[in-house]
Amino acid sequence: MAVIGAGSFGSWIAWRMRSAGRSVLLIDAWGAGHSRSSSGGESRIIRMGYGGDEIYTRMARRSLAEWKDLCERTGESLFHCTGVLWMARSGDPYSESTRRTLERVNVPIEILSAPELAERYPQMRVPDSGSFGILEPESGALIARRAIAAVVRDLIRRGGEYITAAVMPPSGRGRLGFVETRDGKRISADTFVFACGPWLPKMFPDILGERIWPTRQEVLFFAPPAGERRFSPPELPIWIDFTDPRGPYGFPDLEGRGCKLAFDRHGAPFDPDSGDRAVSAESVVEARAFLAERLPLLRDAPLTEFRVCQYENTSNGDFLIDAHPELTNVWLAGGGSGHGFKHGPAVASHISGRILSGAAAEPRFCLSAKGAVQSRTVY
Ligand SMILES: Cc1cc2nc3c(=O)[nH]c(=O)nc-3n(C[C@H](O)[C@H](O)[C@H](O)COP(=O)(O)OP(=O)(O)OC[C@H]3O[C@@H](n4cnc5c(N)ncnc54)[C@H](O)[C@@H]3O)c2cc1C
Repeated sequence: MAVIGAGSFGSWIAWRMRSAGRSVLLIDAWGAGHSRSSSGGESRIIRMGYGGDEIYTRMARRSLAEWKDLCERTGESLFHCTGVLWMARSGDPYSESTRRTLERVNVPIEILSAPELAERYPQMRVPDSGSFGILEPESGALIARRAIAAVVRDLIRRGGEYITAAVMPPSGRGRLGFVETRDGKRISADTFVFACGPWLPKMFPDILGERIWPTRQEVLFFAPPAGERRFSPPELPIWIDFTDPRGPYGFPDLEGRGCKLAFDRHGAPFDPDSGDRAVSAESVVEARAFLAERLPLLRDAPLTEFRVCQYENTSNGDFLIDAHPELTNVWLAGGGSGHGFKHGPAVASHISGRILSGAAAEPRFCLSAKGAVQSRTVY
């Protein structure tokens, strides 16, 4: 089997297939977790809260166990159990259904009133008196780029193969015998999985050109004041503010990289090959205004790093995990839509079940469910 794309989806798919005894070749054009891939960032949140979308809550829980197993097997520290705090407004349907789902599936949570939030996190201004917090104490951060490299090393240790090569878009119908690399080599396999993240629309323009939309996303890191512990775990968890239409979320200072701040709203359309990866001056101004408002001790904190990455959005944010409609031994895995990283292990389980044992498709992940108009419902 050949898996094209060594991001969170492809690496875990290759790993899972190899663990099931298949011979596997994983291929990436620039290397596992490289800086332009969606999985190549410093850190990614793993949380269980997903509104009423229990399917993702369950996938995240299963995946966290597998990420932890990976840490244990490899002896690498790839997960920081910082806790994840949702800040929500009472009566907001998405936040209320998040709480109900987490309670129903027995994910440990702690509910904090606005005064309790203010008392526990004095470094952060609570949105307003009508807000409350849902703390997932067992969730946290994956150190993304390193985690992908660790999955690939573990794959190789298990007898899987990895190569760096650019695969050309396949064409035709029926059974695909081989793919060709940019330098003219042929790679044959019985099954091909394309997990090319934001490059999927370029790989399959006819079927995905109007089904997956990469958007520009910016992430900024600010250094906390010297000697200050209040911006590191356990004093500060990862936080996501659902009370604010700008969609702010942030990380505590992890591994000395600074406090990460971003806004979870779709940016402009973005080309993963040629898009400009310098952060815009307006974003820095917006971030500083937010810090002054909500984390005032960081108001003048030095901007130490930034990243411009891309989401690869499906119409509503549901993943794409399905067979190619015309190439009978080709599978597609992508559409992470700004929340896919954490789910790599569960995505791999799902697709391996379909390929190896003919398990039923999840209707939400099917190509036929992908609309041609963007209307996000999954966060
Ligand atoms: C700013 C930002 C913040 C995010 N925050 C979170 C978060 O907190 N939690 C979370 O769970 N998710 C988050 N996400 C989403 C998550 O990072 C992505 O959904 C996930 O990483 C997608 O993984 P992937 O494997 O599908 O794609 P990618 O990681 O992009 O991997 C695809 C790979 O395919 C390779 N490829 C493409 N074309 C070819 C070719 N022709 N030949 C060979 N190889 C090829 C590429 O080189 C690339 O390495 C965030 C995303 C961004 C951008």
